[in-house]
Amino acid sequence: MSKPVRVTVWNEFRHEKDSSHAASQIYPDGMHAPIAGWLRQQGMDVATATLDEPEHGLTQELLDKTDVLIWWGHLAHGEVCDEIVDRVQLRVLSGMGLVVLHSGHHSKIFRRLMGTTGHLKWREADERERIWVVEPGHPIAAGIDRFIELDRVEMYGERFDIPAPDTLVFISWFEGGNVFRSGCCWNRGRGRIFYFRPGHESFPHFHNEQILRVISNAVNWAVADNPGFDDVANERESLEPIGAKD
Ligand code: ZN
Repeated sequence: MSKPVRVTVWNEFRHEKDSSHAASQIYPDGMHAPIAGWLRQQGMDVATATLDEPEHGLTQELLDKTDVLIWWGHLAHGEVCDEIVDRVQLRVLSGMGLVVLHSGHHSKIFRRLMGTTGHLKWREADERERIWVVEPGHPIAAGIDRFIELDRVEMYGERFDIPAPDTLVFISWFEGGNVFRSGCCWNRGRGRIFYFRPGHESFPHFHNEQILRVISNAVNWAVADNPGFDDVANERESLEPIGAKD
């Protein structure tokens, strides 16, 4: 049997600590808790880390033994230290997978890896969303029917300022008329990145088995085939002789 996938679920974990916020009722142990619980049920080796821990819980030691990092942030993107962002970026480039959820579109790490602002349109009007599968053969869509329907969501709409995804797996339709590229894959260096839209803190989307299924599929997809680090080197010696030029 192959070794279990090692996942770290990182969560800002601020809304859930505010007793006046709906998130404190929906996710009393933090929204990382149901995600981690689901991934453990799938046989994965799961750690969690949160913003207010030393080094935001993302020590070099933990990252070195993380195959895939999941990221949820919203209120406090600016409080994430640049040094930790550098550390995560280097791990992604050397093969660690990264799954960015919902408002993580504005996180330092996502913007750094994309090279764009991550800006989008948004609206809180409790509208319906259909998340359409546009690549049914893709492993991230495994076990999902034609679409996932959510009754009440925060809308995210185009334009979403991202580089064109290498593969677009899901497109969302919203009751109010907007559309959004809600499941996007990219490669950066040896690392694989997936952005997935659902997960607003005021709704129980991380208790929804279809949403959790997409997240575990994304983790399995994001595990590198060939992790390693591609260093800079001066190749003075050539493989073949190089002829003299006039
Ligand atoms: Zn939100």
